[in-house]
Amino acid sequence: SGGRHYAFYNESIREKMIKEVTIKSRMQDALQKNEFLVYLQPKVGLKSGRVERAEALVRWDMPGRGVLPPNAFIPIFEQHQMIGALDQYVFEKICIWLHDRIAAGLKVLPISVNVSRIQFYNSDFVSTYAKIKDRYKIPDGLMEIEFTESVAFENQDYMIQNVEHMRRHGFLCSLDDFGTGYSSLGILKDLSIDVLKLDAVFFRAKSEKSRTYTVLKGIISIARALQIKTVAEGVEYKEQVDFLRKEGCDCVQGFYFYRPMPIAEFEALIAGQGSPPQ
Ligand code: C2E
Ligand code: MG
Ligand code: MG
Ligand code: MG
Repeated sequence: SGGRHYAFYNESIREKMIKEVTIKSRMQDALQKNEFLVYLQPKVGLKSGRVERAEALVRWDMPGRGVLPPNAFIPIFEQHQMIGALDQYVFEKICIWLHDRIAAGLKVLPISVNVSRIQFYNSDFVSTYAKIKDRYKIPDGLMEIEFTESVAFENQDYMIQNVEHMRRHGFLCSLDDFGTGYSSLGILKDLSIDVLKLDAVFFRAKSEKSRTYTVLKGIISIARALQIKTVAEGVEYKEQVDFLRKEGCDCVQGFYFYRPMPIAEFEALIAGQGSPPQ
């Protein structure tokens, strides 16, 4: 720390550590103080052109720091095995929201929540989620659980069992981030999921477009034959939407249509849309 350059370098590591410690130590308190916000990002049906579903995405409104995106705190919670509490909090928030809307006679749509690997391996995760779903009397088919592809390929037997268990409890199951490294089409023959989420990597400019589209076309066609819905994530251009519609992809979730938004904004949006065709 005597040398000028060392001092600068050490300082940034120190700051990073302080930030990590702050994030870690403040989580419980933040849960109690309702600092975590649940945003919803609409999924637009490509046949109906309407918002048909949505994904719940967490943010942290940390006093003095502004609204933090999930990648600023989720990896830290995961590392310290603390993510389960947050996943469950988001899930319960959505159950309460659906419950209140149903009670008020307002329109509801299926909403998905993310479940981290750690929560997924928690042995009573399915029964805990099912109990909460029952407590708020959520009808079957309204709550969707997103698992990431990497978890599915890590322990396939466990995944298959858990997905069956969840579906018996009336949850929809979806495989998130499909296409990001562990993709094995083989798992689709054993895993009875409801939704396949095509990862945003397919819609980034890096790879050659015609090759990418050929791969996407194949995946969409396999999913269709297996009666698995497809949701394309991270779609930003009209030309991509047109391609996906032509190939029979079911929904688009991307900035081209909508960014994640506060729940109140989402309510206003769907109120103006009428009911999507069933
Ligand atoms: P994800 O589950 O794959 O969610 C989709 C992410 O893609 C979201 O980022 C969304 O804002 C972003 N996105 C959607 N469309 C576009 C687009 O057209 N362009 C671009 N550039 N981005 C788009 P977000 O909200 O920052 O979330 C990042 C990740 O954090 C999520 O990826 C998910 O893995 C995780 N996450 C969010 N909420 C939760 C949660 O409650 N629990 C857990 N365990 N993970 C969560
Ligand atoms: Mg997701
Ligand atoms: Mg994803
Ligand atoms: Mg993800």
